[in-house]
Amino acid sequence: MNITVLGEARYPSPLSHFVSDKIRVLLNAVIDPDAPPSDDLLLEVAGPREMLYFDPKKTRAGIVTCGGLCPGLNNVIRSLVLQLHHVYGVREILGFVNGYQGLDPWRGAEPIPLTPEFVEDIHKGGGSALNTSRGPVDVSVAVDNLIRRKIDILFVVGGDGTQRGGAALYHEAKLRGHALAVVGIPKTIDNDVPFVSRTFGYLTAVEEATRILTCAHTEAHSVENGIVVVKIMGRHAGFIAAGATVASQDVNFTLVPEVPFVLDGEDGFLAALKRRIVKRGHAVILVAEGAGQHLMSGGEKQYDASGNLKSKDIGVFLRDRIHTYLKEQDIPFTLRYIDPSYLVRSVPAGAEDAILCDFFARNAVHAAMAGKTGLVIGQQHDIFTHVPIELLASRKKQLDLNSPEWQGVLSATGQEFAHFPA
Ligand code: ATP
Ligand code: MG
Repeated sequence: MNITVLGEARYPSPLSHFVSDKIRVLLNAVIDPDAPPSDDLLLEVAGPREMLYFDPKKTRAGIVTCGGLCPGLNNVIRSLVLQLHHVYGVREILGFVNGYQGLDPWRGAEPIPLTPEFVEDIHKGGGSALNTSRGPVDVSVAVDNLIRRKIDILFVVGGDGTQRGGAALYHEAKLRGHALAVVGIPKTIDNDVPFVSRTFGYLTAVEEATRILTCAHTEAHSVENGIVVVKIMGRHAGFIAAGATVASQDVNFTLVPEVPFVLDGEDGFLAALKRRIVKRGHAVILVAEGAGQHLMSGGEKQYDASGNLKSKDIGVFLRDRIHTYLKEQDIPFTLRYIDPSYLVRSVPAGAEDAILCDFFARNAVHAAMAGKTGLVIGQQHDIFTHVPIELLASRKKQLDLNSPEWQGVLSATGQEFAHFPA
């Protein structure tokens, strides 16, 4: 996959180690001679280039963070600023505030000049030092503003929506003849981004979720027939639920969007829960927010400001159905419901995520300085890559039910109930 470049790279890089533009990484590393031909996409390898398109002394960069919070956003901002400032010598860096809204001068607050002093301690806290938002911005107004402010490089840190926004900005700038390098850094605690084996924030979220599951298990274990339902993030994919289940080993039922489960009947989830309660006297149920949507038909569809379909509340639905079912069965029980959704995403990044953020950010700076545009930094087989924005934003990653992650869930929970093919 070739990445668009803004023009000839004419300025020597101040760095001393380089990666050639010709090196590629194979997306699928497994060779199975008996399998049909697979997706043998070749991706460009990220890293410092010997020649730069932008003259660092004259370059102006902007950073924007959009969508939901994710542990590590501040680490990314900090590493972008420090790499630009200290390594490349770029002195003009603006932080656009409140997500894409901040690109619109009529709606957004003044951008913040980003310096090493400003970012010194930001990685020690969660959230984003630039704030974030959902909802559209007029792309034409945004590009007018970027041209007026002489922004050459825009780093867009966010999920699939943010990357689609980045693609729109890149195309609009191209139409206007403005040489804008748009480089995306993928952000999602859900870990559902294709071409990225692990997104930053995911492991921190799993760590937090595991802590909560330990408490849930204590609650369930401390009373007769104690049941705790924990709802966790994961709108399209159950990676957090799967990771936390395998890490904690305390969960008895893990429900994810990829496995549409049967609720009623002898082979359904409720009957399986009853059997577990009768046999073991306690149960912990972990449900991802996007699970079981097929069970809650009716009602109006609701969308967030960015146009994403909101999940119906499977946590509350399950709590109520479990309550009604066990009452009917005349089984005594204590049922607790925990919804820690936002608690797992507003914390600072753990060490592994902090390292990942730094790698993503520094590779984004290398790509931008070389004049590459319309790309997102990916990561596969521990190698950072350049992925065209449109390619990344057009797919979603989900749990593979044959993967070690899901097989680990089945082993840790021992869960058995009917479900439809995913
Ligand atoms: P997450 O889902 O992880 O919270 P996200 O980046 O997907 O992150 P969204 O709220 O969907 O979050 O989108 C972030 C920003 O991108 C919003 O301001 C939204 O309006 C904008 N955006 C989404 N899709 C497009 C698009 N097709 N064109 C332009 N802008 C878009
Ligand atoms: Mg999204």
